[in-house]
Amino acid sequence: MMNTPLLLTDLIERAEVYFPTKKVISRTSSGVHTFTYKEIVQRTRRLASALSCLGVEEGTKVGTLAWNHHRHLEAYFAIPCIGAVLHTINFRLSPQHIAYIVNHARDEVLLIDKDLLPLVEAIKDQIPHVKAFIILSEEEVETELKPSYSYEKFIEQGDPAFQFTKELDENAPAGMCYTSATTGNPKGVMYSHRGIVLHSYALGLADTTALSEKDVAMPVVPMFHVNAWGLPFAATWFGTTQVLPGPYFTPEILATLIEEHRVTITAGVPTIWNGLLQEIERKDYNLSSLRGVLCGGSAAPKGMIRAYEEKHGIPFMHAYGMTETSPLAIIASEKSSLGELNQEEKISIKAKQGILVPGLQMKIVGKDGEVAWDGKEMGELLLRGPWIASQYENDERTLGSFKDGWLYTGDVVTIDEEGYIQVVDRTKDLIKSGGEWISSVDIENAIMAHEGVFEAAVVAIPHEQWHERPVACVVLKEGYHEKVSKKDLYEFLTPQFAKWWLPDEIVFLNEIPKTSVGKFLKRTLRDEIQALFQQS
Ligand code: AMP
Repeated sequence: MMNTPLLLTDLIERAEVYFPTKKVISRTSSGVHTFTYKEIVQRTRRLASALSCLGVEEGTKVGTLAWNHHRHLEAYFAIPCIGAVLHTINFRLSPQHIAYIVNHARDEVLLIDKDLLPLVEAIKDQIPHVKAFIILSEEEVETELKPSYSYEKFIEQGDPAFQFTKELDENAPAGMCYTSATTGNPKGVMYSHRGIVLHSYALGLADTTALSEKDVAMPVVPMFHVNAWGLPFAATWFGTTQVLPGPYFTPEILATLIEEHRVTITAGVPTIWNGLLQEIERKDYNLSSLRGVLCGGSAAPKGMIRAYEEKHGIPFMHAYGMTETSPLAIIASEKSSLGELNQEEKISIKAKQGILVPGLQMKIVGKDGEVAWDGKEMGELLLRGPWIASQYENDERTLGSFKDGWLYTGDVVTIDEEGYIQVVDRTKDLIKSGGEWISSVDIENAIMAHEGVFEAAVVAIPHEQWHERPVACVVLKEGYHEKVSKKDLYEFLTPQFAKWWLPDEIVFLNEIPKTSVGKFLKRTLRDEIQALFQQS
């Protein structure tokens, strides 16, 4: 067979050749705009050309801090199609972490949404390698960042017939994304052209998401979260109509976009679908176009799946993945070999994360080796495959997660007789709130730095809207019981963390349960605290 390279240039050029009239609908701060793929590709060529003139070349890292909209989509292709690296930055991270990842990635150019400028202005003196700032707006914007360009003016100078680089290596980096670590700075994952193309194929399989030209896809998951789960890449390749929901959307905005543009498939974390569910229970919308609500990032609650499927007749798709896995790795699809299933059995299957996507390999390893396929024995999920990362970028923490050719996911799972995997726990000490990670260890360390605190442990409690929220369990030093209140601790923590990281509750305890070697027994504590909150 020929060994032709798998490159993102082929994805965008296919959209240009076969689907010039298909649409990208983009909601921005100035309203909803519609572009044809012909226009999008021309604008992408202009951007690639203007970036080249600016000195961006093979290997240059270009960061984006942006919502889901057409300009971000253009950057998704313009940057890797000249051999540079698209680094999508999670703008919900703390300023320290944003500065860290811009420096660690060595971003030389940043593309920034106008409303996110203050985030970068606040760290401008800490990011010396950035040579240019492009503001994703129509008009000139006043900013302290220098030199800066307004996007529309910038691309106007570019050549609409610019030729993308053809001689790229398929294993060259195309994109990168940072994921939170248990503690300390985020860890960088690099995506190759080849990995993204193969992952796009995976999204098109009938037994996964079956994304196709006939779909109208609306990725609600941010474009800085594992490339919006790879949807913009695959959708462009397939000529799928895309609806990009833009900044500060609400459940009402999402429902309206689905209704008006006849969205067929949409993707996001459970918190988003919980909000949409409340909205469609409040008000009537015609969402009959939907053939799938793709949900991942955290476990989809059974009650929510049932409400979508039974009450609203909207098919639910539950999937599992990670930043390190591009992300699609496991998806809950019904196997026909299971025979006729009743409704309850169908919902139970969808509440599990599902079966391994073709193209990947997995192992589930418990304390005595690989676990039995009995739906009971628990072990850590290990993954490998052509769209699974093999390391963290320039990071010694690689050694902890990548061993013997496998990614150790840190997720504890069971697998049943039919191969359906269920995530039951995680070994990594992190809390997932609204699709974003909170480091329990970082909060614990901060609390323990208070002079009146003897020890502190932070655990997750289930939360209907955010899925999980942190609760801090604190043991005070002798003599401080009268002196330190919850309010004091909140005042102590507030300047140190983003607001959404602060614990929902602080519980004072006499001691924290520990193992024989003195480590916190987090699981026992979590069970006790969860029981406490269920009672109250
Ligand atoms: P991230 O790298 O931020 O996308 O987070 C990946 C992690 O999210 C996984 O390792 C799991 O812990 C969790 N996760 C992703 N999808 C699911 C799911 N469907 N059910 C339960 N946990 C999930």
